[in-house]
Amino acid sequence: MIEWSEEQQLIRDTIRRFIQEEIVPNQEALEHGDMPPYDIIRKMYQTFGVDEVARQRFERAIEREEAEERGESAASASDGDGGAEDLAIDTLLSMELCRYSAGIVTAMGVTQLAAGAIMSQGTVEQKRRWGLDLLTAEKVGSWAITEPGSGSDAFGGMQSTAKLDADGNYVLNGSKTFITNGPYADTIVFICKLAEEGVEPRQRKIMTFVLDRGMEGLEQSGRLRKMGLHSSPTGQLFLDNVIAGPERVLGGGDRKKSGTRKKSDPRATFAAERVGVVSMSLGVVERCLELCIDYAKERVQWEKPIGEYQLIQLKLANMEVARFNIQNMLFNYLERKRENQPMSFAEASAMKLYSTTAAVEVASEAIQLFGGNGYMAEYQVEQLYRDARVMRIYAGTDEMQVRAIARDLLSR
Ligand SMILES: Cc1cc2nc3c(=O)[nH]c(=O)nc-3n(C[C@H](O)[C@H](O)[C@H](O)COP(=O)(O)OP(=O)(O)OC[C@H]3O[C@@H](n4cnc5c(N)ncnc54)[C@H](O)[C@@H]3O)c2cc1C
Repeated sequence: MIEWSEEQQLIRDTIRRFIQEEIVPNQEALEHGDMPPYDIIRKMYQTFGVDEVARQRFERAIEREEAEERGESAASASDGDGGAEDLAIDTLLSMELCRYSAGIVTAMGVTQLAAGAIMSQGTVEQKRRWGLDLLTAEKVGSWAITEPGSGSDAFGGMQSTAKLDADGNYVLNGSKTFITNGPYADTIVFICKLAEEGVEPRQRKIMTFVLDRGMEGLEQSGRLRKMGLHSSPTGQLFLDNVIAGPERVLGGGDRKKSGTRKKSDPRATFAAERVGVVSMSLGVVERCLELCIDYAKERVQWEKPIGEYQLIQLKLANMEVARFNIQNMLFNYLERKRENQPMSFAEASAMKLYSTTAAVEVASEAIQLFGGNGYMAEYQVEQLYRDARVMRIYAGTDEMQVRAIARDLLSR
């Protein structure tokens, strides 16, 4: 793959029209008001038929799983994965949205992350109860792992607990922070540790529960104030003796009561999350470049457009190198998906490390190129910078990407 196909470019144009009609006019309210992004996300899913495709794919996946449980062959049914073409469209959607609102992509992506956890580890009943409404964006989802005392070392340092009571239910306690969609989530994938007597805390079993808004003892905070990404609400969760039955446990627990469970590799989820951020970075870089080229041609100083000065040309050239590299990495990723040769965890980490560092550098240089106007909200580059900055932190910090890459190299 060396370029988007004609069909993909047509889809991109339709996405751009949607953004101009639905997001750009609401930009101020999304960024500086309290407008949650969810109605826009639902409208986008309906406009592009994403909800309908998700529904059909969901039914086929369930059909297949039920057939397997009955011991029948289900070879004709799809496994629910849309393949390389769908991935290319998801990539385009994410890139295009990030040119204006990386927060919308984050809010949307985390609902899908919660759906993905349920769809990969849940029973058929759990998928029907919680999965479908998240896949169609009918409901809002959160995926809660980070705690005030544990971030990069999320599993090791985790303090939230699940304690089995005499009735076979779990009593959940603890708090989570920086949770995307936390203030508005209808469905929460909550990750904690089993309270096991005599087992050293770092070694205790990790458990995943699905929780509903309004459960007794569950408190969802308001929005946390933050640097950027304002169209993605972020909050805290507090659990005080929340009672969760075994039917809420994902990927383990009481098999008799809650059916067949599959184990999934968390590294596959982390790798997908990392590559998702790469397409977001490309959206930021493309938009910065576009704005900077226009500005370099129109802004006159010393009686010449600033684009005629070599120091400005160097900034533009560096931005183009970053755009070209990130795009090629993404095309490589999509091509490998088509050829069924998935990227390794270390490769996904390398892509994320490079592209997010480049996006932050490009956005910072875009502000510089715009001078004082770059610091003003009206010219949009300051928002692109603030939105890009978190990409070096979430989905694994830069330092965690370095660790994953180096570990892979040193294991050879
Ligand atoms: C806007 C936003 C949205 C988020 N959404 C979610 C969400 O939906 N769900 C969720 O669960 N979490 C979410 N997070 C949390 C995010 O995943 C964490 O912030 C991130 O993993 C880093 O953890 P931390 O903030 O605790 O930093 P820490 O882990 O405390 O790290 C502090 C610094 O130390 C470095 N460091 C840590 N360990 C090492 C090491 N071994 N070697 C070298 N350096 C190290 C880090 O790289 C970093 O520079 C979100 C965060 C933000 C900012």
